[in-house]
Amino acid sequence: MERKALLDEVKYYFTDSDHWRRLCAALQDPDPEGSHIHAYVDTSVHPDSLEAIMKAYFERMGWPSSRKIDHMAPKSGMGSLHGVEPKGKPHFDFQWFFQKDVGLRPCDGGESGCNLLVWNRWYINEFYRQFPFRSIGAEEERALESYFKSDHFLKGLEFPVMPTTNHMHINVHASVHPDMIKKYAEEALHRKGRKIYYTCPNVYLVAGKYRGKLVFMGQEPEVVFDIGWKFASEVVIEPAWERWIFEETPGYD
Ligand SMILES: [Zn+2]
Ligand SMILES: [Zn+2]
Repeated sequence: MERKALLDEVKYYFTDSDHWRRLCAALQDPDPEGSHIHAYVDTSVHPDSLEAIMKAYFERMGWPSSRKIDHMAPKSGMGSLHGVEPKGKPHFDFQWFFQKDVGLRPCDGGESGCNLLVWNRWYINEFYRQFPFRSIGAEEERALESYFKSDHFLKGLEFPVMPTTNHMHINVHASVHPDMIKKYAEEALHRKGRKIYYTCPNVYLVAGKYRGKLVFMGQEPEVVFDIGWKFASEVVIEPAWERWIFEETPGYD
């Protein structure tokens, strides 16, 4: 693409486009730690440059980028600036498809037919209403404690700190409320000397349907990892060994 046209298009996107403005509007959610956003664009701009422009924009707005931005390739043809977090705002993923004749613009569709998706605390509380979570007694406490000392969980913590991986999911079946999973997971992380900024409850697409997950925003080490949970009334919490997204890593994605 010709340089002047490219610059004009990129400049337009960040100063005047509806897509960027709506993304920034969604960033104003009063409960940033309970919110998450996906934006989908077509672009020919290198992700390093996109990251630099975005960071400069947030700096100017008084919301400097507050954590490391991961560069990922979630699926073929798609890249992601993952875990972008302006200070005090929700974290978001800026997903891009390479298009050589495009500077920067929202793409057609993206996820569930939308190029901008917003989840917040209200959404997740409504999402939870469909599940008859079991209440917590001594048996449930024991199962939670033992799961978070298990190899499945502890091995899962090793993946995202490897040089070849910057993000991953630990998959479980569970019937306890995600707030309880969060509580026991955070205690386990503390025992392991891992520090997190916060845990965000969220959903994600698995085979065309939204499933629950908890997103752990790591501080030390600064990696993001998720626990994906699928409701299963017959168990308290257990590894999910069947394939969810990737074939190669049973129990994890
Ligand atoms: Zn995301
Ligand atoms: Zn994830």
